[in-house]
Amino acid sequence: MHCQKAMILFSCCLLAGWAEDFNGARSLEWTRKAVALGPRPPGSAAIQKLQAIIRTQLKSSGWQLSEDSFTASTPAGPVPMRNLIGKLAGTSGRAVVFSGHYDTKAMPGITFVGANDGGASAGWLLEMARVLPKLPRKDDVYLVFFDGEEAFGEWSAGNGIYGSRHLAEQWNRDGVLARIRALFNVDMIGDRDLRVVDEAGSSAELRRMVQAAARDFGYSRYFPPYGGAIEDDHMPFVRLGVPAMDLIDFDYGPNNSWWHTEKDTMDKLSARSLQIVGEVLLEVFRRLEQ
Ligand SMILES: [Zn+2]
Repeated sequence: MHCQKAMILFSCCLLAGWAEDFNGARSLEWTRKAVALGPRPPGSAAIQKLQAIIRTQLKSSGWQLSEDSFTASTPAGPVPMRNLIGKLAGTSGRAVVFSGHYDTKAMPGITFVGANDGGASAGWLLEMARVLPKLPRKDDVYLVFFDGEEAFGEWSAGNGIYGSRHLAEQWNRDGVLARIRALFNVDMIGDRDLRVVDEAGSSAELRRMVQAAARDFGYSRYFPPYGGAIEDDHMPFVRLGVPAMDLIDFDYGPNNSWWHTEKDTMDKLSARSLQIVGEVLLEVFRRLEQ
């Protein structure tokens, strides 16, 4: 085990480049701040506090902030939702997007804090907000915090991924969509037992790039080359022809028993898992921007 770790560290040092800039411990601390707010369903006072944290971090790191707010028709009635979007301008006219959801599932009757599901993606993006402005780029870079990923009650085609469906349509109208050369969505990537699905609905080219970067870093066991199709925030973009990919660990606890339960708490996460996903996606970004 120790030998293996040393090998991984060694190969990282050789190949890391920009990837070493991502700090998993900081990302975990951001996640902890989000989780400390309690359940964060769309429209709640707690999610508004998280929005304030995200705005502050984006602005202080040099991002142009915009907001996509709308009222979603849900089985629970009309719900106010808000995607938060950071942009860094490039020179190529094209764009790379990193996204994830920051809401947690409304679960009446239980205290669902979504450490991994909603917390980890927000914490990962908040660390990316610090790192990305320091890196060379030719493309515009967008950092998107989706609201309303979660369904109200049972998931269906029209109940869930509200924020990503709204932004995909918006970007389709205003021309951003056609400029996107890659969109990477992360979800549930804080699990200390990390196993990122090679999601079948995602862009084949981006999947190959992620698999290759993971292999070059010695991280293949965290990115096994299998997994089914998972409906997530990337799919509204995939359906509109955008090269998009979902990085999700959809095996959380024994038989996925921590998913959407009170067991989704901070003690199940590790900085290392957030770090691994950060390193791999920054390496893929570097290869895209070269
Ligand atoms: Zn969920």
